[in-house]
Amino acid sequence: MSSRLVLLGSKGGPAIRPGGPWPTSSLLQIGGRTVVVDCGLGVTRGLTNASVALKTLDLIVITHLHSDHVLELGPLIHTAWTAGLSQPVRVFGPAGTRAYWQGFLQSMAFDIDIRIVDEGRPDLRALVEVIEFSEGEILSESGLTLSALRVDHPPVTDCFALRFDHAEGSVVFSSDTAYFPPLADFAKGADILVHEAMLAEGVDRLVARTGNGARLKEHLLASHSFAGEAAAIATAAGVGRLVLHHLIPADDPEISETDWIAATRKNWAGALTIAADGLVVKIADDSSV
Ligand SMILES: [Zn+2]
Ligand SMILES: [Zn+2]
Repeated sequence: MSSRLVLLGSKGGPAIRPGGPWPTSSLLQIGGRTVVVDCGLGVTRGLTNASVALKTLDLIVITHLHSDHVLELGPLIHTAWTAGLSQPVRVFGPAGTRAYWQGFLQSMAFDIDIRIVDEGRPDLRALVEVIEFSEGEILSESGLTLSALRVDHPPVTDCFALRFDHAEGSVVFSSDTAYFPPLADFAKGADILVHEAMLAEGVDRLVARTGNGARLKEHLLASHSFAGEAAAIATAAGVGRLVLHHLIPADDPEISETDWIAATRKNWAGALTIAADGLVVKIADDSSV
C-alpha cells in the first residue's frame, strides 16, 4: 500500500447543500497504517468510496469537538462493527471525547445489545478505547509518531493541530485555527501541510445565506484563517506542499478553484492543492501543480 492522503470531506462547517461537498474528514495511509482524521458527516461514505474496508479501521484522531469534525464518529465505528470489525479501535480525541462516545453507546444500546444476541457480534463497548490527549507527543509506534499542538480556535480551547511523522513522509493538519504563527514551527519541513482556509469575498455571501449574520461572521473572523494566512504559515514552515482544506465557503457558485489559488499565491509559491471530496494526494510527491 503506497502512502497517501485522501480528503474525504472538504467543507468547513456542518451544513450540507444539494450536490455540495461534505464536512471535514481525511484519510491518511502511511507506513501500512490507516488513520482517519476527523469524522464530520459523510466520513463513512468517504472511506468506502476511497476503497477502505471499514472492518480494518484501527486508528481515529479527532482534532476538536465541533460537530463538523465529530458528528459521525459514533456512526462510523458502529457501521464498521456491523461490517465485521473485530479488532480494537483506538480513538484519540480532546477532553470530552469519552463522554461523546459513552453517550453514543447509550443512545444505541438497544441495537448494540440485540445484535450481540441475535447476530453473535462481539460487544462494541469492549472494542473501542478512547484516549483523551493534550499537547505533545501522543503516540509513537511502529515508526509512526503523532504529536499535537494547541491552536487558536475560540471559544474552543481544546483544539489541536496534528503532526504525523514516518519514514515515508510527514503530514501536518492545522485543524480549525485563526492565523497562528507557532503552527509554522510545528509544521517545519513537513511534506504536506493541510491547512484550513477561508476566502474573504465569499464570507459575506455565506453569512447572508445562513441567516444568523453578525454572530456567525464574528466567529469566522476570530476563529479561522484566510487562504493568504494559511499560505504564510506554509512559507514560514517550508513545507513540500500546501493543501487548503475545510474550505469556507465551499459551495459558492461564484467562487472557483482559480480564486483560491489566486488568494494563496500572494504568500506561497510552492506545490498547492485545493481540497475536493475524494481528492487523493500522494505523500512526499514533489511534483508541482
Ligand atoms: Zn470546522
Ligand atoms: Zn471548529
